[in-house]
Amino acid sequence: MMYRINELGLTLEIEDDLLCSLIDIGIKHYPNEFGGFLIGNYSETQTHLIITNTILPNKFKGTPYLFERDTIGIDDKLKQFYAEEPKKYYLGEWHTHPNNLPIPSSTDINAINSIANHPEVSIKNPLMLIIGYDKPKVELGFYVQFKNKLYRYE
Ligand SMILES: [Zn+2]
Repeated sequence: MMYRINELGLTLEIEDDLLCSLIDIGIKHYPNEFGGFLIGNYSETQTHLIITNTILPNKFKGTPYLFERDTIGIDDKLKQFYAEEPKKYYLGEWHTHPNNLPIPSSTDINAINSIANHPEVSIKNPLMLIIGYDKPKVELGFYVQFKNKLYRYE
């Protein structure tokens, strides 16, 4: 699947297999929220993103209205992706919205702001995928934080 933000000239690509497995994993945790980390790489021009993998949290808390992940053990897995050729990076995160639309909550907006402003995470434009799951319909929302503003990929 290919998504774009025309206003910024950005494109994003994700393999259908990966997307389906994220949806499946998310639905398994229904009615609780669940999520993980998004891994992939950028084009040379930095305008095209390719999501290639996910890392699932080792420790998390999920309720119907909340998802909190711990980063314990995630660094080691990120290093393995970084060692691959081409290098793969942490791009952002994904989580589900059971019985809801893929619209960022205020908690989600705070979370993406803190990632964008985190001194140790070298990611200026973090990505957020929300999988809205309103039985039996699945709706996806891909967002990127760009210069302190959240944009949605179409
Ligand atoms: Zn959310």
